[in-house]
Amino acid sequence: MRLGIHLPSIPPRSRLEHAITGLADRGHLILRSGRPPAGSRLAELGEPGGDGLVRRECDVVVGGARARGPLALVALSQARAVVLGLEAAEHLRWGAVERWGFATTGGFGVVAEEESAAFLAQVEEGERERVALWPSVRTGGPASTHLDTALLERTCERALARRIAGPGRAALFVDRDGTLIEERHHVAEPDQVSLLGGVAAALRDARAQGHPVVVISNQAGVGRGLFPETRVHEVMARLRALLRAEGVELDSIRHCPHAPEAGCDCRKPGTRLLREAALDLRVSLTDSVMVGDKWIDVDAGHAAGSASVLVLTGHGGEEARAERPAEARGADQTCADLPAAVRWFLSRAN
Ligand SMILES: [Mg+2]
Ligand SMILES: [Zn+2]
Repeated sequence: MRLGIHLPSIPPRSRLEHAITGLADRGHLILRSGRPPAGSRLAELGEPGGDGLVRRECDVVVGGARARGPLALVALSQARAVVLGLEAAEHLRWGAVERWGFATTGGFGVVAEEESAAFLAQVEEGERERVALWPSVRTGGPASTHLDTALLERTCERALARRIAGPGRAALFVDRDGTLIEERHHVAEPDQVSLLGGVAAALRDARAQGHPVVVISNQAGVGRGLFPETRVHEVMARLRALLRAEGVELDSIRHCPHAPEAGCDCRKPGTRLLREAALDLRVSLTDSVMVGDKWIDVDAGHAAGSASVLVLTGHGGEEARAERPAEARGADQTCADLPAAVRWFLSRAN
C-alpha cells in the first residue's frame, strides 16, 4: 500500500508510531506529510509526500487521535481511506467536523483494549465494526514481526477494500517462490529476489480490471530455524519494491511461518490465509483463482472453494510429472507461466 502518514498527529513512542515503522519494514510506501513532533521516529521514514500529498498516489492516510489534520489530508490528497490511532478521551473532544469527516470517509480506527469499553460506548452502532483493538499481548522485538504491525496492516487493507470495492471481487491468489519469482531453495535474502518474465505486466492487467492480487506463501524456513521471520518481511519488501517500480501495488501478502509438522491450518494446502484474506479484502472465494507451482497450491485453492492453476515454472515441471493419488483432483488449468495463468483467470472472470 501507499500510506500517507500525518506526522503532527502521531505521538512519539506510541504504538501507532512503532507499527508504522513496521509497515515501512514490510515494504509499504511511506509518504510523510506535515511537521513531525519533537522526538518522532517517523521524521526520516519513507519519502516526503508534500504537505497535502497532492499529486501523490496515496491509498490510505494514517494519523493519530486528533482527527482534524488527518481527515483534512484525506480530502487534500484524495486518498481512498483513512485509519486513525484512536483514544477515548480525545474522541470525546471531537467536534461535528471530525465526526462527520470520520463517518463520510468510512474511517477505520485502532484503540487500546483497556479503552475499548469506554470508546465503543461513544460511537454509533454502525461504526463499531470499523474499530479494531490493539493486541492485548505486547510482544517485543523487531517492528516488522510485531503483532501491532500486523493489526495495522490488516486494518488498512480492510479500510481500503471497503472504500474501493463492493463485496464479491474475484481475487488472484498467487504463490511466491517459483511462481512470481525465481525458485531458489528457501529464498532468504532480499537480493535473491528476481521476478519471472512477464509477471509484473500480468499482475498490472489483473489489478487494472479490479482484481486484487494476494500473495499466499509457505515460509517453513522460519519454523525450521533456517532464518528469522524478519527475513521473510525483508524479502517480501523487496518483492513489493520491484513490483511497485513496474506499477503494481500488491493488495496483500500473507505467509505461514510454520514447519510442516507443526500442524497449523495456515500452511498450504491449509486454507486459513486464503479465507482471512477473502474476508479482509471482500473477495468471493468461489470466483477466485489460486496459482502456484506445486500441488499444495492447487489443493489449497480447491479446499478454499476457488479454482486452481498449476504453472510449469519453478517446481511445476516436476510436479506435473509426479504421481498423484487416484482420487486427487487435478488443476483446473495447467499453464506455462504466471502470465498465461492470468490470461486464463481474466477470460474466466470477465
Ligand atoms: Mg512455489
Ligand atoms: Zn502456519
